[in-house]
Amino acid sequence: SRLANQIAAGEVVERPASVLKELLENALDAGARQITVDVEQGGTKLIRVRDDGGGIERDELPLALSRHATSKIHVAEDLEAIGTLGFRGEALAAISSVSRLSLTSNTGEQAEGWEVVVEGRDMAPSVTPAGHPRGTTVTMRDLFFNTPARRRFLRTEKTEFNHLEEVFRRIALSEFQTGFRLSHNQKVVHQLPSGDNEALRVARVARLCGSAFMEQSMPVDVSHAGLRLHGWLGLPTFSRSQADLQYFYVNGRVIRDKVVSHAVRQAYSDVLYHGRHPAFVLFLELDPALVDVNVHPTKHEVRFREQRMVHDFLYRTLHRAIAEVRP
Ligand code: ADP
Ligand code: MG
Repeated sequence: SRLANQIAAGEVVERPASVLKELLENALDAGARQITVDVEQGGTKLIRVRDDGGGIERDELPLALSRHATSKIHVAEDLEAIGTLGFRGEALAAISSVSRLSLTSNTGEQAEGWEVVVEGRDMAPSVTPAGHPRGTTVTMRDLFFNTPARRRFLRTEKTEFNHLEEVFRRIALSEFQTGFRLSHNQKVVHQLPSGDNEALRVARVARLCGSAFMEQSMPVDVSHAGLRLHGWLGLPTFSRSQADLQYFYVNGRVIRDKVVSHAVRQAYSDVLYHGRHPAFVLFLELDPALVDVNVHPTKHEVRFREQRMVHDFLYRTLHRAIAEVRP
């Protein structure tokens, strides 16, 4: 029902940035190689995400908007995981209950695509033909138009856009093989070509994290016993006043983790200085069997099977790198 969806929306959709996060994750799940994001008025008026991924079959389109409809759970043991995944198959339903949402998609098998439109109503959405190349466009308009109490919690356009950009940054740093574009009020903010060579990676990090970070950081790339840590480590001279620049990815997924932060803090402890936090963009790759993801669907937690080994590898690698550049 609409009420149930709106309750779910209370957990999934806090602000425009949470909508963007869900739409970007769906686009990546669909195998997109190019993702274009257009937002207006901090995302409260419009968030449109267009991808060139696998698309949605005509008959699946209305289903994609109903609760617990997910195409991503296939086997019985996945079903057991629903309890912990919690929000599986709820994002689009939740978003559609608090906005005007349309979904246009083409799986690439026909020349034409199909579209469904819902406006925060219970009505079964109708499917109409619509021109669309292979892939999907999700258009969300007028967030919280039917829930004025929630609308009042929205901050200024600038603040909401900052949150959106943070979500965009976090996800664009996770997938270098995919090109991204972000525009706000018809102005292009980020244009990030796809490609996983070093020059494109450096350009993307510089674009997203600022050229000051790129200039005042050192590249790291160390492999040991099946673990690889690579990325950029901010030098002690680099400081960022507003917010921490700390991105840590495990197998391409941004995480916050006690083992990781402890190792980083320890490695930096010799050079830590008042009020400043180390800046870094780091990628840890390891055998997926050695890490449980999805401990929590929104908090981006992981659990390492070999915590000690991961901790010591991170600590030693970072400490050595930092010791090299310590003034
Ligand atoms: P979940 O991602 O947890 O499955 P969502 O509510 O986010 O749930 O999406 C519901 C379903 O809609 C997905 O399982 C998928 O089948 C389909 N879907 C949503 N967005 C896209 C997209 N950009 N491309 C292809 N399929 C999509
Ligand atoms: Mg999803």
